[in-house]
Amino acid sequence: MDYEFIPSVCSYCGTGCGVLLKVLDGKLVGTLPLKTHPVNQGKLCIKGWNLHEYVNSPRRLKSPFIKVDGRQTEVSWDRAISHAAQRLKEIVEKHGPDSVAVLASAKVTNEENYVAQKFARAVLGTNNVDHCARL
Ligand code: SF4
Repeated sequence: MDYEFIPSVCSYCGTGCGVLLKVLDGKLVGTLPLKTHPVNQGKLCIKGWNLHEYVNSPRRLKSPFIKVDGRQTEVSWDRAISHAAQRLKEIVEKHGPDSVAVLASAKVTNEENYVAQKFARAVLGTNNVDHCARL
């Protein structure tokens, strides 16, 4: 049996709590709080304690889906991004920039959130920007 504890950072929110990922024979099996981490000092919320569960979940989405002929269909990232860009362009041209909005996420970095709001304002032309923590 090969047991490892790998220090990492919780990916559920922007707080950035330190965790120890428990890995048994190459498979992620558990999460512990990192006692020496300055943010959480050995504590985790319920999401952090269960951080490992989604990694091996059979329900985890690993690729994008778009609706084709009324059915959710798995597609490549290139196709999904092209589809989203085309539909956003059509909607903005037809209904104006304030007909769309960008929802950012606590699960990404500050830099990624910055790019998301910049995309909304500079590319789409809307100030409709919000964040999952307010929903
Ligand atoms: S343990 Fe909870 S508070 Fe800490 S980063 Fe994860 S989700 Fe956020």
